[in-house]
Amino acid sequence: MVVPLVGIGGVDVQGRAELLIVGAGVIGAGAALALARSGHDVLVVDRNSGVGDGSTGASAGIIRVHASDAQSSALAHDALVAWTGWREFLGADASEDLARFVRCGSLVLDAGNGFVGQAAAAMTMAGVTFEKWSLDQMSGHFPYFDFHRFGPPRPVQDEAFWEEPSEFLAGGLYTPQSGYVGDPTLAAVNLMRAAQRAGARLRLSAAVGSIDRERDRVVGVTLTDGTVLRAAAVLVVAGPHTDALLRGIGATSDFRVRTRRMREELIHIASPPGLDLALQGVHLVDGDLNINFRPERGDAFLGGSNGDLADEQTIIEDPDRFDRHVTATAWERTTLRMARRIPDLGIPRARSGVVGLYDAAEDWLPIYDRTCVDGLFVAMATSGTQFKTAPIVGELLRHVIESELDGKDHTTIPFASPFSARTYSTAQFSRLRAPREQQSRG
Ligand SMILES: Cc1cc2nc3c(=O)[nH]c(=O)nc-3n(C[C@H](O)[C@H](O)[C@H](O)COP(=O)(O)OP(=O)(O)OC[C@H]3O[C@@H](n4cnc5c(N)ncnc54)[C@H](O)[C@@H]3O)c2cc1C
Repeated sequence: MVVPLVGIGGVDVQGRAELLIVGAGVIGAGAALALARSGHDVLVVDRNSGVGDGSTGASAGIIRVHASDAQSSALAHDALVAWTGWREFLGADASEDLARFVRCGSLVLDAGNGFVGQAAAAMTMAGVTFEKWSLDQMSGHFPYFDFHRFGPPRPVQDEAFWEEPSEFLAGGLYTPQSGYVGDPTLAAVNLMRAAQRAGARLRLSAAVGSIDRERDRVVGVTLTDGTVLRAAAVLVVAGPHTDALLRGIGATSDFRVRTRRMREELIHIASPPGLDLALQGVHLVDGDLNINFRPERGDAFLGGSNGDLADEQTIIEDPDRFDRHVTATAWERTTLRMARRIPDLGIPRARSGVVGLYDAAEDWLPIYDRTCVDGLFVAMATSGTQFKTAPIVGELLRHVIESELDGKDHTTIPFASPFSARTYSTAQFSRLRAPREQQSRG
C-alpha cells in the first residue's frame, strides 16, 4: 500500500524528491550518480523491472574517441578515464561484479567521403591522439581484411555490389585507445548502485504516465498506477520515450532541432575459424560499405549499419511497437557487406543479433538542456553515440541542472571536465541550436 505523504490541492502525494529522474538507462544512472554525489536528494523511476533494459541494453557498447566534431571526441576521451578505471570511478568494492572495458582500437577506413579528414581535424582540435595508417600498415596489422574499395555502399541486390573491385582504399585512422564494454546493461547497473551508495533512491516497475506542471513550472510526475510523485526538478531521460513524455505537456514546442526514433539492428556472427579476435580484433568503421563492427569476445563480431544513409533507416512512430527480431534484409545487408571485407567469413542460415531503437536528432548530437517549462530538464537524442560518454554526461547534466536552478543560463558557463583540464560549451547540446551541418553519427 502506498502511504500518502502530503495532500496538496486535493492531490495525495505518495513520494517526494528534490530531483526526480525518469529513466534508469546508462544516462539516467550516470546523472543520478553525479547529482547524488553533489549532495542532491535524487529519486530515479523506471517503468522496467531492471536497470539498463531500454536502449542501453541493445547498445554495442563501443567506446571510440573519433567523432565528427571536437567536443564529441573530447567527451569520449575524457569518459575513457572512467571506463578504464571503472572500479575506482564507481567507488565499488572488490566483491561487486563490474562491466569491463576491452581495448581493441578503432580503425576508420578512408572511404573517400571526407569523414576521415573531418574526424582527424576534430581529434587534433580536441587533443586526442591518433595514427594515420597507410594501406600497407592496415594490411600488415589486419591481414584477414580485404582492403579493396567496394563502395559507394550499394544494396546487396544490386549487381554492381558483386563486381570485382580494382582499386584499394588509401588508408585510414587508427585510435589504439578505443574499445568496447561487452555488457552495457551491467554498466548501467554499476552506475546506479554507485548512485544508491551516494544516497539516490530507485523505484523500478514505475511507469510515468504524465509529467505534471503548475503554470510554467514542473511539479512532479504521475505514474500510470495513479501514484503522484512531487519534485522541485524533473530530468526526463527516457530514451526513445522522451519525446512523447515531453510532448504531452508541450515541452518540445520551442525545440529547433528535430528528433526521430529509428530501428537499429546489430548482427552477431562467428568469426572465421583460426582467427583469435582477442588478439587480432579491432573495431572497424567502414564507410566504404556503410558498416561497422567490433569483436564480441574472441570468436565473433557484433555490428550493423553506420546509420547515416536515409534509405537504410527505419523510422518508428511508436517506441512500444517495433519488430524486435533481426530481419532478413538487415541480416543479408550486413553479413554480405562484412563478407566482402572479410573473405573467410562464413554466413550461417540462422539469424542472430540485437534490435533496439535509436533516439536521434537530425544532426546526430544529443540534447542536454532545460525545457521551456521551469524545472524540467531533458537528456535525449543520445543514440547511437552516447553510451560511451555516460560517465561524463552525468556530470554535464549536473552542470546544466545546477546552473539553471541557480538562475543561470547553463550555455554561458563552461562545463569543467572532472577528468581533465578541458572545458566544454553546453550550447552545442541545446534544444535551441540550429542543427549542425556536416555532422554524422561518426
Ligand atoms: C542498437 C544500438 C546500438 C548502440 N551502440 C552504441 C555504441 O556502440 N556506442 C555508444 O556510445 N552508444 C551506442 N548506442 C547509444 C546508446 O546505447 C544510448 O545513447 C544510451 O544507451 C541511451 O541511454 P539512456 O539512458 O538515455 O536511454 P535508455 O537506455 O533507453 O533508458 C531509458 C529508460 O527510460 C525508461 N522509460 C521509458 N519511458 C518511461 C516512462 N514512461 N516511465 C518510466 N521510465 C520510462 C526505460 O524503461 C529505460 O530504462 C546504441 C544504441 C542502440 C539502440
